[in-house]
Amino acid sequence: MKPAAFEYHAPATADEAIALLADLGDEAKIIAGGQSLVPMLALRLAVFEHLVDLRRLDELRGIETRGDAVRIGAATTHAEVGRSEDVRRGVPLLARATPLIGHFQIRNRGTIGGAIAHADAAAEYPAVALALDAEIEALSPRGRRTIPASEFFTGMWTTDLAADELVTGIVFPMWRGRCGFAIEEFARRSGDFAMAGAAVAVRLDADSRVERCAIGLFGLAATPVRATEAEAGLVGSAVDATRAEEIGRVATAGLTAISSDVHGSADYRRRVGAAMVARAWRRAVEEAGND
Ligand SMILES: Cc1cc2nc3c(=O)[nH]c(=O)nc-3n(C[C@H](O)[C@H](O)[C@H](O)COP(=O)(O)OP(=O)(O)OC[C@H]3O[C@@H](n4cnc5c(N)ncnc54)[C@H](O)[C@@H]3O)c2cc1C
Repeated sequence: MKPAAFEYHAPATADEAIALLADLGDEAKIIAGGQSLVPMLALRLAVFEHLVDLRRLDELRGIETRGDAVRIGAATTHAEVGRSEDVRRGVPLLARATPLIGHFQIRNRGTIGGAIAHADAAAEYPAVALALDAEIEALSPRGRRTIPASEFFTGMWTTDLAADELVTGIVFPMWRGRCGFAIEEFARRSGDFAMAGAAVAVRLDADSRVERCAIGLFGLAATPVRATEAEAGLVGSAVDATRAEEIGRVATAGLTAISSDVHGSADYRRRVGAAMVARAWRRAVEEAGND
């Protein structure tokens, strides 16, 4: 099947792009790497009369360390994120998530802004953004605003973005100190979206007590989810006393809307999710302990 006919626009600036979105209304859609949108158009799950391509917008590309954060332009590809020394040093969890996204062909074209805006509940970057309290920068004809990741993902493939709003960048705060980071997921085949996954960040104090931690879950609800209850229960505990399996169980216990599908029942997914949390916790804690 082929996409329905559409008019193609390639604006030269972000301001031109949002002006087009405002003029064309609901009939227009941004296209970045096309790795999620093109299959949807080809299968006619989505039909738009106008596509607004970001490929000429160099202002949306690039990775920069700014003080205690790393800012990544929305049109930066997954492959560029994966190769970045700034990301490896400043946001190791994001660097480790990147090879888990699809295949290298997808990572060469897909963009971080596209992954965040597409908001697939099984995608890695949204869960990492949520776990690390990233902020999403957006531009519209009404101006610029910054949206905390905790407020950005509002439902299945749905975000807080307005139809005429463009993601321009994502800002990831760095964690400093005795930190460890790990991401684990289970997928039927390498390169598939995860059936369940967990992204974990942990910081230990000098006495090896958990000073701060974050657990982001993906593939287990309509949006990525933070396991806030499990996190709160861990802060202040001696790391030797934390039991990874129990953490996995608590982290997934509150999930009420896991879907059953051809890949597995809700109960199976929850158990896989708990195992992913346990694995990621162990690895993150081990890394933090070696720091
Ligand atoms: C076979 C296959 C396997 C995949 N596996 C995975 C996987 O395991 N994990 C994973 O996370 N992803 C996976 N993907 C998806 C891939 O990561 C996509 O690249 C990503 O989800 C979307 O990025 P994109 O730049 O291609 O966006 P596009 O496909 O161009 O756009 C996706 C959506 O985001 C919107 N959008 C794009 N950029 C912006 C912006 N700057 N501002 C506002 N809206 C914007 C578009 O309008 C559209 O609605 C897979 C894709 C394929 C084809």
